[in-house]
Amino acid sequence: MAVTALLLVTAAILLSISLARLQESRELAFRASGILRHVAEVRADVRTAETGQRGYILTGEPRYLAPYNHAVDRVWATFVALRKLVRDPGQARRLAELEPLITAKLDELSETVALRKGSFEAALALVRTDVGQRLMEDIDTRVAEFERAEEAILVSGTGALERDATWATRLAGLTGLLAVGSAVLGALWFASQRAHSSMLTVERRFRRDLERQVEERTARLVELNRELDAFAYTISHDLRAPLRAMHGYADALIEDYGPLLPEDGRRFIRRIAAASERMEDLIQDILSYSRLAREEVSLRPVSLERIVDGVLTRSAERMGETGAEIVLERPLPAVLGHAPILSQAVENLVLNAVKFVGPGTRAQVRIRAEPRDGWVRLSVEDNGIGIAVEHHERIFRPFERLHGAEAYPGTGIGLAIVRRSVERMGGRCGVASVPGSGSTFWIELGVVAGGRAACSVTTR
Ligand code: ADP
Repeated sequence: MAVTALLLVTAAILLSISLARLQESRELAFRASGILRHVAEVRADVRTAETGQRGYILTGEPRYLAPYNHAVDRVWATFVALRKLVRDPGQARRLAELEPLITAKLDELSETVALRKGSFEAALALVRTDVGQRLMEDIDTRVAEFERAEEAILVSGTGALERDATWATRLAGLTGLLAVGSAVLGALWFASQRAHSSMLTVERRFRRDLERQVEERTARLVELNRELDAFAYTISHDLRAPLRAMHGYADALIEDYGPLLPEDGRRFIRRIAAASERMEDLIQDILSYSRLAREEVSLRPVSLERIVDGVLTRSAERMGETGAEIVLERPLPAVLGHAPILSQAVENLVLNAVKFVGPGTRAQVRIRAEPRDGWVRLSVEDNGIGIAVEHHERIFRPFERLHGAEAYPGTGIGLAIVRRSVERMGGRCGVASVPGSGSTFWIELGVVAGGRAACSVTTR
């Protein structure tokens, strides 16, 4: 569009220049034809004056003097008009040379006329000197030169006129074409703009609809999740009583009737008791997980060091049994969190680090914290069995276990609790691990000064 507009303006300027030149060429041609007409009149008048003079000399009749006088009067009027028209310096010079010849010729004519009024012979004698004849020939020669030069000017003027007319025509055509082109382009541009804006409107409406649908579905999902949590909580809660009864009766059975039963019978009852204990653990974990969704979480500065110390003290007995070596890199900073759920999450990570070691390996666990991109990252690093990268995400989901209960006991909810806890505190968590080379589980929480509450979960 801009290029077309520029071309259009340029073509219009060139056209106006061309039209101005055309006008100049027209004036030049017009003037040249006027000059030619005037110079021919001057010569014709001088000849008419001479013819009148000859008639008067021969007849002596004054009626021949009328055309003579008339022609003499006209010669100078025409000559003055001619001089006004001439602009070319060469032609002006030729005209200046012609003027004294005409003066001399008219003087010669008036002298002979004056002499004839006295005597025919005196006038004839002057005519016979051929002065007048030579003057007339000189005038003819000069006029012919003048005419040739003026014709050349006229020819070149006409050529220029033709060229200018051709250019003006072409430029007018080009300007017209460009104008039409611009109009078409402009129309296309407006049409495309309208199409674009209506497309944008449709797109905006579509996006708004989509956002509304996503919001509605998210709200519905949140609601469903809440219902599911409530359901799991109720079921788990209600299952506890019969489970306890089952466990109690198994204990009573072995206590009261154990000696009466054969060895197999006692083994079965012990299995019932162990299974009910395991189920008790499972229910306990499900309850904790469900409770997390409903628990009121208020973020405030929490000392990570105090949390980790508390976890280590509580788990000292279990750790002692395994002979695990725990290294805590003090000091640990404060974070924005909720102490009870943070404590639970850290405990789960530390217990896992101690639990998932290869057979005959002594667990070595390192706990440290460092600032990272506006967060505080708490890492629990172990020398355990490690986790293949394709499982890094799924182990944070409930009941996702990579091993059987015989190899490593557990319910499969520990890491799900970690993730939900961290999310509730506006943080994130993940793991970096290579099978056979240990794992580093980490959680990130907001720093205390200007702490953040953005919630996202990433795994590495
Ligand atoms: P649980 O410990 O009860 O099995 P978790 O949710 O805590 O359940 O862990 C899920 C699974 O992730 C575990 O079964 C185990 O396969 C894997 N895992 C967790 N922590 C570690 C670890 N430190 N090293 C290796 N594997 C681990």
